[in-house]
Amino acid sequence: MNRYRRPKGWLSALSITNDSGEVVGGIVDHRLSRRALINEYRRGRLRRDQVCDAHPELLRAARNFGDATSVQCPICQVSNVVLVTYVFGPRLPKHGRCITRPDELDQYRRPQHTAYVVEACHQCGWHHLLRSLPMTDTAPAQATGTSNEGSL
Ligand SMILES: [Zn+2]
Repeated sequence: MNRYRRPKGWLSALSITNDSGEVVGGIVDHRLSRRALINEYRRGRLRRDQVCDAHPELLRAARNFGDATSVQCPICQVSNVVLVTYVFGPRLPKHGRCITRPDELDQYRRPQHTAYVVEACHQCGWHHLLRSLPMTDTAPAQATGTSNEGSL
């Protein structure tokens, strides 16, 4: 039997070392579990308050730093969801470091870091982890400090 319950404080539960069998070090796509959760809700097996239980901190981040999308919230169908990215890694807060500006993505780009991209709806509190990915090879080969690399 599949269970789709998410405990409170799920953000702090996320970590790169305790990822329950998911691939660590590669991009992990969570859209299947997202779809399953939405289906459970639409079939009436989950109540709205069971799927719209975003942590207040996540909703605050979604309001202030959320990356707007054109994807309508699958639950309330009123607002579009926004994307919030958290970076986890050594010396970062246990609950992750919320990315508030695009340049912070470069700032935290280290092999030890993993980014978790979460979608959230500040209208109803729906939230789901979309994907997690290592903060490494997504960048062009722009090594430390060498800013003017234009010429061969
Ligand atoms: Zn919503």
